[in-house]
Amino acid sequence: MIYCAPTWQHRPIVSSVPLTYCQAMQVIHDVVRPVGRTTTVGLESSAGLALAEPVIAAEPYPRFDNSAVDGYAVGFAEDSAAGSRLKLKGIASAGGGLAAPIERGHAVRILTGAPTPPHAFGIAMQEDVELSDGTVVLRQEIRQHDFIRRQGAEFDAGTELAGIGTVIGPGVAAQLAFVGMIEPSVFLAPRVTVIATGDELVDPSTIPTESQIRDTNSRMLGFQVASVTRTLPNAVRVADTRALLRAAAQKAAAESDLILISGGASVGDRDYVASVIADLGVVHFHGVSIRPGKPTLFGCIGACTVFGLPGNPASAFVCFEIFVLEALRRLAGWATPEIHWTKAQVAFAHRASGREDFVRVCWRDGALVEAGEQGSFGINSLAKADALVRLPADRDTLAGEICPVYWLK
Ligand code: AMP
Ligand code: MG
Repeated sequence: MIYCAPTWQHRPIVSSVPLTYCQAMQVIHDVVRPVGRTTTVGLESSAGLALAEPVIAAEPYPRFDNSAVDGYAVGFAEDSAAGSRLKLKGIASAGGGLAAPIERGHAVRILTGAPTPPHAFGIAMQEDVELSDGTVVLRQEIRQHDFIRRQGAEFDAGTELAGIGTVIGPGVAAQLAFVGMIEPSVFLAPRVTVIATGDELVDPSTIPTESQIRDTNSRMLGFQVASVTRTLPNAVRVADTRALLRAAAQKAAAESDLILISGGASVGDRDYVASVIADLGVVHFHGVSIRPGKPTLFGCIGACTVFGLPGNPASAFVCFEIFVLEALRRLAGWATPEIHWTKAQVAFAHRASGREDFVRVCWRDGALVEAGEQGSFGINSLAKADALVRLPADRDTLAGEICPVYWLK
């Protein structure tokens, strides 16, 4: 096993003990830095990108005092008591411009979002008044500022609404629209290449011979990558020869910020990933004490980050979620790239395997149940699973225990 943890260590430290999951994540955390290429993009096509500039409020919000309800505004404390009879005069509506100040003994019809007339005392909801012959009768007292949304109630001009690295979702889109940032500066999505290795692989459009299989990982990993980058990565398939893998990795490194190599990461006769990456760059670690995913490799070729993932689909899927996703988000400039482990109850017992186990699970009746076949070759569980649950290496888990869980959906 090779372990080169912090970036300030230039020579890899060789260790014969596989890393724990936490140690491996620490290495990824220490090594991977944002790619940092920026561009400006129209707000309408910015979904999922990370901000490269903060969103600063140029104005307070709300921008002006306005009505929170459809109702009636009064101008004076003396006109606010229950039972007051007020002459209805005028209407203030959203977008209708500023109304004149309200006179003593009068009430103004006001609609939600309308600027409140200057010096308005408070507003009664329309459900709380009676109307007869142009007279408004208050059924209950209006207190000062009732149903007036005050200017700057949420934030003042100059407030930072979203920082650099915030991923643009619906809420951030609302902030960008509010401040009028219609072309925000964002980090460009990392360029990714997926290399699927295996003499047995054929394109999914092909009918496999008796010893061949359709390449499932390229599409699966491609969709996982696109959950961050929003576009499918380049995909390359190579046979199990060292020279072909070396050439493919070298070319991909020149064109990409991240390479995912599926298969060939273990220690079989035709598993060339570790030796090729060590040859072209640096292997930071190879081997993690987890199940599935023991042969996972992490390294770099120049500025390009590289993961070697096991070829079994369930292993590749899980390793993407628990290792690659965070690295990819870091490369993409996300301020909070970490995947979140919460806690939930498992409904099944589990025998410790000596490695930390990442089990594909579904949420059923308030607890987690296994999502079918747990062998690393399985594929149905990948479609079914709601979450991964993380079970300890060194002690059995009992049904009913509360365990760390990471939600996939
Ligand atoms: P490997 O990690 O290369 O030893 O492959 C382990 C298992 O995963 C073998 O049964 C392979 O046939 C299978 N496998 C490897 N690559 C893929 C792929 N792209 N799609 C589906 N299965 C694969
Ligand atoms: Mg293989």
